Amino acid sequence: MGKSAEIVWSNCLEFIKDNIQEQAFKTWFLPIQPVKLQEKVLTIQVPSKFFFEWLEEHYIKLLKVSLEKELGKGAKLVYSIVMDQKYSGKDPYTVKIPSSNREKVQPQEVDAPMPIDSKKVKNPFIIPGLQKIKIDSQLNVNLNFNNFIEGESNRLARSAGKAVAKRPGGTSFNPLYIYGGVGLGKTHLAHAIGLEAKENHPDKTVLYVSTEKFIQQFIDAVTSNNRNDFIHFYQMIDILIMDDVHFLSGKKGTQEAFFHIFNHLHQKGNQIVLTSDKPPVDIQDMEQRLISRFKWGLSADLQVPDYDTRLAILNHKIEKDGIEMPEEIVEYIAKNIKPNIRELEGSLNSIIAQATLNKKEITIELTKKTLANFIGNSRKEISIDYIQRLVCDYFKIPIDQVQSKTRKRDVVQARQLAMYFAKKYTKASLSSIGSQIGNRDHATVLHACKTVANLSETDRVFRGYVEDLNRKISMG
Ligand code: ADP
Ligand code: MG
Repeated sequence: MGKSAEIVWSNCLEFIKDNIQEQAFKTWFLPIQPVKLQEKVLTIQVPSKFFFEWLEEHYIKLLKVSLEKELGKGAKLVYSIVMDQKYSGKDPYTVKIPSSNREKVQPQEVDAPMPIDSKKVKNPFIIPGLQKIKIDSQLNVNLNFNNFIEGESNRLARSAGKAVAKRPGGTSFNPLYIYGGVGLGKTHLAHAIGLEAKENHPDKTVLYVSTEKFIQQFIDAVTSNNRNDFIHFYQMIDILIMDDVHFLSGKKGTQEAFFHIFNHLHQKGNQIVLTSDKPPVDIQDMEQRLISRFKWGLSADLQVPDYDTRLAILNHKIEKDGIEMPEEIVEYIAKNIKPNIRELEGSLNSIIAQATLNKKEITIELTKKTLANFIGNSRKEISIDYIQRLVCDYFKIPIDQVQSKTRKRDVVQARQLAMYFAKKYTKASLSSIGSQIGNRDHATVLHACKTVANLSETDRVFRGYVEDLNRKISMG
């Protein structure tokens, strides 16, 4: 009766433990389960494919020596991997991979698409069905380039997106960083890039993920001790599209993980597409090294669409949905609904709904009545100028003082309060707030916001000012 797999493996572990760092031992060897011993072949189960790659890349020599010590010359190792397809929702399955006897394996080889005549290629890594990870790209087919109307407001971002979809990783737009306010088309463009890249490069793995989902996955991974697997999974994507990266703000752990993913992908020349509601410099509570990476490629903004683009978007939607609507009405909507495309679509939808539900003809009266809500809301939007005047009024300071370079204490305070409320009540970026209030830079605005927040906590009189002003501003 020979030794059992358990005994052989536990002896191997003894040896391995003495030869590597404790942390590495815990991370890479403790999770391994011995499965089977047949003659001189030991099968071990590893938690993931990444694990297997890592062991092969870093510890193959050590594994080999330890195994030969136990089983003699000719000892062999086979990995058993449970392919937990949690990202595609399919059932897990197991693959068995013999260890290569090479000492260094480039992980990229594992991902290489299988050549047609692969049967002739003697490469233990080419296992049918495993050579390429199969994942659901999470793309919405309706958000394609055909449905994305081009206009002055999106020209740069759109053409950069097209270029990236044509040659992912092959342009200097890496990462492609698309930013703009809500409802201006970031998510739509992100999907369009993914869809077109996939069409142009069917062999590449494309993944769209919202940053919120990414954060949730990261938390889950950490909780279940799979942080490395999480990172490795993302490191295998050829074209990674991450929507709303500003949500990483303040999430230190996730930022760190994303940093490793970003570096790995960028080094491999894989494409990264990011969207955000702000330019990189304005994202708060974000590690500097990430912000600087966001700026490596191209930052392109989506602006508020002009009248012609709004009209074109409406007409496109009307045509696509097969709706009949007098041109006069379409023009009325395009003229009056300005803030973003989501509201534009929303107002169009509610007019159609009103007409359908009440079996009424779509008339200009019905349109005006229906849009009253939308228009009312958008008028309410508070401008930086308004805030500035209100603050100056309150402290009885002439507005040109706040706009000047003066460092007089009461003026500085008014300026900081104006900045703070502009940040709170408008969608303007820090740099745009700074340029409108006293021509300062974004760092000054950030500092002002922090100062106001701190003083409100420590100084009762000051808190009174903030509360007064807050009431006045929010009442419009
Ligand atoms: P964001 O992600 O910037 O908040 P979305 O991408 O969700 O905005 O866009 C809001 C809505 O406007 C979506 O329904 C989208 O399809 C539509 N949309 C945005 N940009 C365009 C465009 N250029 N052409 C047509 N529809 C657009
Ligand atoms: Mg979005």
